[in-house]
Amino acid sequence: KANRKFHPDNTEVKVGDLVIGGKKLTVIAGPCSVESEEQIVEIARRVKAAGATMLRGGAFKPRTSPYSFQGLHAEGLELLRIARKETGLPIVTEIMNTEDLDLFADVDVIQVGARSMQNFELLKELGKTDKPILLKRGLANTYEEMLMSAEYIMAGGNENVILCERGIRTYETFTRNTLDISAIPVLKRLSHLPVIIDPSHAAGLPWMVEPLSKASIAAGADGLIIEVHNNPAKALSDGAQSLTPDQFDGIMERLAPLAQVV
Ligand code: PEP
Ligand code: MN
Repeated sequence: KANRKFHPDNTEVKVGDLVIGGKKLTVIAGPCSVESEEQIVEIARRVKAAGATMLRGGAFKPRTSPYSFQGLHAEGLELLRIARKETGLPIVTEIMNTEDLDLFADVDVIQVGARSMQNFELLKELGKTDKPILLKRGLANTYEEMLMSAEYIMAGGNENVILCERGIRTYETFTRNTLDISAIPVLKRLSHLPVIIDPSHAAGLPWMVEPLSKASIAAGADGLIIEVHNNPAKALSDGAQSLTPDQFDGIMERLAPLAQVV
């Protein structure tokens, strides 16, 4: 179902009035983790003012260490709803466990993180819903494996899948991961699904978000997902790669001439 061969036209995934994979570039922005009402509402206001059309924020966090902040769980989802109500921005947030699916009933876009890309039972459950799913590429997965994961969701009847390249594990340690720009033309050639890029997790460095975003737009990406925090130094996760709202403003201004953003 994900195969371009049987669907020559590009698929547009609809989120309310928004279209992902249409003519306009979709910019999703927000913190790695939802931390408090003040934090998420302030960031939501700022990213919206800068031109983002969706708000990201994790409530269930797949952390490398069990001692790191794991997210606010149901309370985090509630805070995202408050930020959505305040700004009108649809919300994107990660699910890790099929048992939590009921909590995600009114989430606009459900994210499957890189570490869950091959959690096939989770993918099957998401296939039974009609929610748009943002499927991130695993840290060391091939394009074919990623498309098979999309297929798991689509096989269940849910064809609202958005693919996301977020950098892969290579021998390079300067960057957190290595952004695989080839993913854009390859995934768009093999499939008809929208492809978005996460330059924040790819680079792990805030100053690389702008050049990687520009490269992604030039290569044909349908959107970007960018981490923004009101106080990166104090962030409970991924502060080291997060942009400040002021930095995000500047990048959005400079991306505008390259793409129709809103
Ligand atoms: C995230 O979006 O904060 C995240 C955990 O991303 P990934 O699954 O790509 O590492
Ligand atoms: Mn993160």
